[in-house]
Amino acid sequence: MPKQLISVIVPLYNEEEVIGESYRRLSAVLASLEEDYELLFVNDGSRDRTFELARAIVEKDPRVALIDFSRNFGHQMAVSAGLMQARGDAVVIIDADLQDPPELIPKMVEMWHGGAEVVYGKRVSRKGESAFKKLTAFCYYRVLDALSGWKIPKDTGDFRLMDRKVADALRAMPEHNRFLRGMVSWVGFRQVPLEFERQERFAGETKYPLKKMLKLAADGIFSFSGKPFGVMRVLGGLLLLAGLLLVLTLLIAQAMWGGVEGWAYVLGTLLALGGLNLLALGVCGVYFERMYDELKGRPLYVVRQVLRAPADGERP
Ligand code: UDP
Ligand code: MG
Repeated sequence: MPKQLISVIVPLYNEEEVIGESYRRLSAVLASLEEDYELLFVNDGSRDRTFELARAIVEKDPRVALIDFSRNFGHQMAVSAGLMQARGDAVVIIDADLQDPPELIPKMVEMWHGGAEVVYGKRVSRKGESAFKKLTAFCYYRVLDALSGWKIPKDTGDFRLMDRKVADALRAMPEHNRFLRGMVSWVGFRQVPLEFERQERFAGETKYPLKKMLKLAADGIFSFSGKPFGVMRVLGGLLLLAGLLLVLTLLIAQAMWGGVEGWAYVLGTLLALGGLNLLALGVCGVYFERMYDELKGRPLYVVRQVLRAPADGERP
């Protein structure tokens, strides 16, 4: 039987300080596997010497390939490009900065052989990251969990191993606003966590400034949830009800005792109208959601396998 192939995708944006060490540690770990491997560097429009350094590695090592972007398209696009090129029976996504320890890959491969179709790294702790980042990440994953229609695992980045079937499913998802960790959870399959301690960045600083973080956070919420519209519908409905009840009560009070002042009716009507507006927007949201679903062009479903008795002619 030919050896299996593991593809490892490493997105790079201004990583001249880490690429050498990253390559050394990854190659050492991957060489210890029984499987063959390919290393896919994706240079996401770096403005430093990342490209030159990566090219020098590719020239020396036939197991390394380099995809070079024309400009910075962002981490999720870099990983997606790697996915499109990956030929492996399993695909690993790992950051270049060694915050995700490459030494965990053999364990992931072992779990894959044990039947896991996705092994995702789950951070039990984060070293060397600011209190702000830890706090925002903590809150964000909880909000995302509350909003999204299905479980996106908490405290999980893109560090993971996926079976080829999962990679194929992702390759069939052409959406533009890509939140890969959500997409991986959407496709299903047997997904197993592997807990690890997130390390400090080996060198350099984060390539995820607040603006990029916010865009990623928004993609996570808006690509995976219509719940904001649901909140509008519920709130709108409640307001409408409250307004109507108020007006009704006022009318009764006026009929029985009189003396209800005009502004009270105005308040009730305002409440009811505001509620009606919000409700109507929420209902429009249903159509938006459906259009958005169609636009994303995701596959209708993802098949793991089809089992069928062989046709008569094929029976032994
Ligand atoms: N990255 C990228 N394009 C970007 C930003 C980041 O390819 O626009 C890469 C970066 O080189 C690294 C990975 O994505 O390999 C994660 O980025 P970083 O470590 O800066 O994010 P953090 O760990 O701080 O969230
Ligand atoms: Mg990092």
